[in-house]
Amino acid sequence: MRRKRVVVAGLGDTGLLTAMRLAGHAEVVGISTKPGLVSGQELGVRITRPDDWTRNYWITFDRFRALDRVRTVHGLLTAADLDGRHVVVRRADGETTGEEYDVLVISTGVTNGFWRRPHLQSRRDVGDDLREVRDRLAAAESVIVVGGGAAAVSSAVNLAVTWPAKRIDLYFPGDRPLRSYHPRVWARIRRRLAGLGVGLHPGHRAAAPDGFAYDRITGDPVTWTTGQPPARADAVLWAVGRVTPNTGWLPRELLDEHGFVRVTPRLQVPGRPEVFAIGDVAATDPQRSSARNRADRLLAHNVRAHLDGRPLRGFRAPRRRWGSVVGMQPEGLDVFSPGGHAFRIPGWSIDPALQPWIEWGIYRGVRD
Ligand SMILES: Cc1cc2nc3c(=O)[nH]c(=O)nc-3n(C[C@H](O)[C@H](O)[C@H](O)COP(=O)(O)OP(=O)(O)OC[C@H]3O[C@@H](n4cnc5c(N)ncnc54)[C@H](O)[C@@H]3O)c2cc1C
Repeated sequence: MRRKRVVVAGLGDTGLLTAMRLAGHAEVVGISTKPGLVSGQELGVRITRPDDWTRNYWITFDRFRALDRVRTVHGLLTAADLDGRHVVVRRADGETTGEEYDVLVISTGVTNGFWRRPHLQSRRDVGDDLREVRDRLAAAESVIVVGGGAAAVSSAVNLAVTWPAKRIDLYFPGDRPLRSYHPRVWARIRRRLAGLGVGLHPGHRAAAPDGFAYDRITGDPVTWTTGQPPARADAVLWAVGRVTPNTGWLPRELLDEHGFVRVTPRLQVPGRPEVFAIGDVAATDPQRSSARNRADRLLAHNVRAHLDGRPLRGFRAPRRRWGSVVGMQPEGLDVFSPGGHAFRIPGWSIDPALQPWIEWGIYRGVRD
């Protein structure tokens, strides 16, 4: 009997893990515009210490042992024919091909700022991007970070830790950032920012010129719709959470009014039991939190159950965000619970303990 074929569309943080889990159970094809995992995590570390970040978050597919049984296709998905059960891919070598599936997993994520863009990139392009951003920020004497989410806060902390002589200012709307986390998280990080000398500017909502894409670091004065005078710095980092789902290649009928993929609690598309979605692209809950809540395990179980005719399980999201906000720091890694309590993995143990945990515990083996 022919082995069932699963196509995983998008091999980012969560598509990659799903493909690994399904590899022994079906013929798995993973399609991605990048030649490896280019994670959406830990923006602050990425822009200030790209070499450290690269170790865990930019890893070419050939280095993952658990992908040995997965066929990866480097290309851009351009269309999906749901009745014919195939997707269309414009490959990096210029050819256009079709990939047939028994099950389709949609994990194409979202576009966000300059650090998460779905365009085709070579290995060299990814490295160049990382270096350009770091060099631009290193050359600036002052940096404004605009935004109130984890990406903005993490950027402000890491800029101040890496370059203590620079002037760093964080501008955010409302009275506090990190509103989707427990208030204790901000209380702890505020003390850290104050200790680092970062200027905190609540109540600032930035005005963006028409058509502004938020996809680059700028140098122009920032104006505010909240009435304050314009602010200036050598570099302005936009982390305003304006995310766009990477779903232009999908039929409209699959999407909600914001363009995210509609799913049932079992992560299936309503009316299309052979199509699943996970990660930032999947409208699972208001935070779209299936990636950070490791729903890849559940999804792999459900795909297998669907293929074998067994019952599927449901995904339940916690109400508040949790996890790391500012990434690895010299003193350690703070991981916040949904209740806002920090669990610290001390700095001295990060390399000996965390590194193998990431490589084996999460990715089941990464080659040097
Ligand atoms: C183990 C783990 C731990 C996490 N920890 C935290 C945490 O502590 N704190 C926190 O806030 N978040 C955490 N997260 C969540 C994380 O920040 C994001 O939610 C995650 O990056 C989203 O992953 P994704 O796979 O949905 O999207 P992405 O990682 O962006 O992957 C999408 C991929 O699809 C590709 N793609 C897009 N369009 C196309 C196309 N048309 N054709 C082909 N390819 C395409 C993209 O280029 C990209 O490679 C964690 C996630 C994981 C898996």
